[in-house]
Amino acid sequence: MSNDCTFCKIIAGEIPSTKVFEDELVTAFRDINPVAPTHILIIPNKHIASINDLSSVDEQLVGHMLTSAKALAAQEGIAESGYRLIINTGTDGGQVVFHLHLHLIGGQRMRHPMG
Ligand code: AMP
Ligand code: ZN
Repeated sequence: MSNDCTFCKIIAGEIPSTKVFEDELVTAFRDINPVAPTHILIIPNKHIASINDLSSVDEQLVGHMLTSAKALAAQEGIAESGYRLIINTGTDGGQVVFHLHLHLIGGQRMRHPMG
């Protein structure tokens, strides 16, 4: 847990969120400012600031983030219609919260080929 990290506080239950899934490795909750009918954030339970801070020991964790996204897409009923998975990294990538998160976005046709 990192002090002053919004997403660590969500995991700890110190900040309210609408959680849709959690297990020993990841937590998933609805984005507070959704850009589509389904907009879920999937985050590691341990604080990792960004993709730049990953190490080889995290490879199973990152894979689990993806399989959790797949399961959540099915749970949301968008597996067949399609969805987009996004990880913003750093300033140019548009990252605002520095606790690694995978955006699961769907329920509408994406308006831009890449975002
Ligand atoms: P990024 O630009 O990739 O860092 O995305 C950060 C995302 O976190 C944005 O889509 C925000 O709407 C979302 N967000 C920030 N604070 C919260 C919160 N307290 N609960 C849920 N989502 C949040
Ligand atoms: Zn954190």
